[in-house]
Amino acid sequence: MPRQSFQFGSLPSDQLRNAVISCRICPRLVNHREAVAVTKVRRFMHEDYWGKPVHGFGNSKAKLLIIGLAPGAQGSNRTGRAFTGDRSGELLYQVLYDNEFCNQPESIRQNDGLQLTNCYITAVVRCAPPRNKPLPEEFASCRPYLIEEIRLLRSVCVVVALGKLAFDHYFKACQDTGHSVPTPKPRFSHGGVIRLPWGVTLVSSYHPSQQNTQTGRLTHSMFNDIFAMARSMLS
Ligand code: SF4
Repeated sequence: MPRQSFQFGSLPSDQLRNAVISCRICPRLVNHREAVAVTKVRRFMHEDYWGKPVHGFGNSKAKLLIIGLAPGAQGSNRTGRAFTGDRSGELLYQVLYDNEFCNQPESIRQNDGLQLTNCYITAVVRCAPPRNKPLPEEFASCRPYLIEEIRLLRSVCVVVALGKLAFDHYFKACQDTGHSVPTPKPRFSHGGVIRLPWGVTLVSSYHPSQQNTQTGRLTHSMFNDIFAMARSMLS
């Protein structure tokens, strides 16, 4: 079991960011993220990979919180920004733009001019895992960072969980912050809407992974409907 060394409670956001990007708690994930950054793939061979944990991105006063699974090896592990530089991000930022949660439909690299509006994006694990599959102890080790973000983002009233793992680990993080999770625990379903006793509405969605989009499990229209619903809840 990796050593849990991050102490959460009341860190300012810049200290949280520094704690995240210097984190080396999970040896398997540290090895993987750094190996990918050295090996690279042919189409990005000329780029300097980020190769570190990826911090959350967005507005500290956001009312919408989006929670993904973990950085993509050739996406945000390369660019250093959530959902930036891969197919999942192409779909996510397109629908965020279409629903006025950001100022441009593309997210290519840091400093590309992208700004989120009333929205913050994070993940339940912050280092790229082999085969996109974090281990249970890696979820547990990374959870304090999500808990700290939940504490800092006091204006959030709608949460969109991208995929069942994000959905499950959002509940675990809320439990750890002292919230009473409804019993039986709500079940994940695409388009599910759960009003939680702590004043947040949780919307669940399939993750915009290529595995889901290429098989037709998640279409552009289905994904857009999720954020149109979030938009209408906030307006
Ligand atoms: S997954 Fe989270 S806890 Fe593990 S090394 Fe990365 S940032 Fe640290």
